[in-house]
Amino acid sequence: MNFYELQGPTLWAHPPSTWSSTSIDEVQACPRRWQLLRSQWGPFERFPVRPHPAAIEGQIVHEALDRLTRACGQRGNPAFGSAEFAQALSDADFFPSFARAASEWQQRLASHPRSSPAFRLRANGEELANRAVRMFRGQYKPALDGFSQVAERGVESLADLSALLRHKGALSEVKLAHPVLPFLGILDRIQRIKNGIEVVDFKTGKPSDTHRMQLLRYALLWWRTTGEAPVRVTAQYLNGAESWTVARQALEEVEVKLAKTLPLLSDALGVRPSVAMPSTGCPSCPVRAHCSSGWPMVEEASLADGRGDAELVMTASKGNHGFAARSCGGLEVAVVYEAPVAKLLPECVEGQTLRVLGGVWKEKRTQLELKSWTEVFLVPPEGRCV
Ligand code: SF4
Repeated sequence: MNFYELQGPTLWAHPPSTWSSTSIDEVQACPRRWQLLRSQWGPFERFPVRPHPAAIEGQIVHEALDRLTRACGQRGNPAFGSAEFAQALSDADFFPSFARAASEWQQRLASHPRSSPAFRLRANGEELANRAVRMFRGQYKPALDGFSQVAERGVESLADLSALLRHKGALSEVKLAHPVLPFLGILDRIQRIKNGIEVVDFKTGKPSDTHRMQLLRYALLWWRTTGEAPVRVTAQYLNGAESWTVARQALEEVEVKLAKTLPLLSDALGVRPSVAMPSTGCPSCPVRAHCSSGWPMVEEASLADGRGDAELVMTASKGNHGFAARSCGGLEVAVVYEAPVAKLLPECVEGQTLRVLGGVWKEKRTQLELKSWTEVFLVPPEGRCV
């Protein structure tokens, strides 16, 4: 069966056996999105998200900046042109990564179930590298008086982390698991400061409260693994840092919350489908076409910003160039497309409900054109809103 004709996963995702800070935040934001994205859909082990080429280019640049930010942070944010900076570039595999990522993404886009010539990256590896360098230069502030010590990478043994930290002064990429709770994390950097221990995480993007919470969870991991509670956590951004003093009581509260929350999140993911949490994120949610709870938010945003996401009921069978349909609001809509697009449409007949992503509205929203990149999903009768 065509992927666009599937009305649900063919194999549902199980809750994770071990949680990361990111998976906790994702499931708390919307259990259904987490579940649908990780379930099997026909031949696809996970939901085959088709991101927009511009978004992929942004992601390639962001991921390279993320790696370079960590590598520089682990080397004490060295000055441009220094040997340490060159080493950080190499650690991050910075320049070679752009061409490789661009080529891998082109292949993935080409093998998407509804591949289209429109869905190709516009920028090549060199252009993406130039974009990343411009952004990095605009934001990076080499350390003047910050941590300057190179951290020991890839700690293998957890035998005596405290002793190793005392000896080295700083450690990086330390993977820790809570001794009792199913929770683990990889600490970007842990270092001795004047009055104790500090946990540092390197971030691109804007400061956010989820960064602080992640750092507190990491501080808890260090405390429970070594017995020594960190006194400070820091989110290190390209252009500055945000630090928070840590009290033991705060770590205890984080631990109690994790102990209560993790079983609840697992239970939520045991329900099929899991509960949906509609939010302003619905209009960009990759699985929105399969979520009737979030769909009203999608239609609302579509009305406001003119995007061509719409639920329609076919009021006539499809022809080579279009068919008549009715919208959620009961308006008549002429759906039109060029002949090659007709071949890409799923099998559908009069009375079928469809969710269209990425169509183009015309004629004051009385006509919706399906382009070669438009996605059209079948909706089961119980899921429709019209
Ligand atoms: S559309 Fe909204 S409510 Fe539905 S899965 Fe996506 S984020 Fe959750």
